[in-house]
Amino acid sequence: MRIIAIVNHKGGVGKTTTTLNLGKALSLQGKKVLLIDLDPQANLSQSVAVDESEKNIYHALCEDINLPIIEIGNGLSICPADLGLSGAEAKLQSEQVMGYFKLKNSLPTTDTYDFILIDCPPSLGILTINALLAANEIIIVTEPQFLAVKGLQTILELIEKLKTTLTPHLRLKGILFTLYDRTVVSKSIIEQLQTQYGQLVFDSIIRQNVKLAEASALRKDIFTYQADSTGAQDYAQLAKEIL
Ligand code: ADP
Ligand code: MG
Repeated sequence: MRIIAIVNHKGGVGKTTTTLNLGKALSLQGKKVLLIDLDPQANLSQSVAVDESEKNIYHALCEDINLPIIEIGNGLSICPADLGLSGAEAKLQSEQVMGYFKLKNSLPTTDTYDFILIDCPPSLGILTINALLAANEIIIVTEPQFLAVKGLQTILELIEKLKTTLTPHLRLKGILFTLYDRTVVSKSIIEQLQTQYGQLVFDSIIRQNVKLAEASALRKDIFTYQADSTGAQDYAQLAKEIL
């Protein structure tokens, strides 16, 4: 079972869009996929219209119930969140190191899914740490912009720290560029990171595509909304690269 955390402490870089559409693309390839919404803003849950579920990820983390899971498509399920998840942070923190492993301990232990994708909040707090420790692969999502790329170092340092203290098996799968606008500046930033990080930069790049924003506003994944858009092509390509 591949468990992938989709992270960046910066908001608006395409984490949620990537979780949903990569998950859908993998399910279209015949894989069984579970999405986990770990962001108290619950954008992922909202974008698939399951933000009013009675039980959600909060209850799994804080009340030790089984992960509440809702099927949203063929081979595609979600464990939703709502604003109440913000209350989990203090609770988890009060449990010290035990609180770091709550998500890991609530995930299915058998290979019920081929992929579990975890959509992280825009912070490197205890929820993101739970995601990193539960995952066996990490995808850092970033825009090809100067300041966004500078922030990568902070995440890489956190990953190194967790690796040496808590989980040696943690693996950075790659850096994914999203919201690519094809400008000279973006191009040169991508080239620079390819030189610096080599294989760690995904060949697949998600271009800016207004259809992706429209789809999420309409609570649809891009393949349902517009299968021939560049957004759909880019996420299908990414799914292939990951497989
Ligand atoms: P995050 O989860 O990192 O905060 P989102 O996935 O919510 O970021 O994306 C932020 C906004 O940008 C959303 O309105 C989303 O629809 C839009 N968006 C994401 N990726 C793209 C893209 N490749 N092209 C155009 N709009 C995008
Ligand atoms: Mg998000």
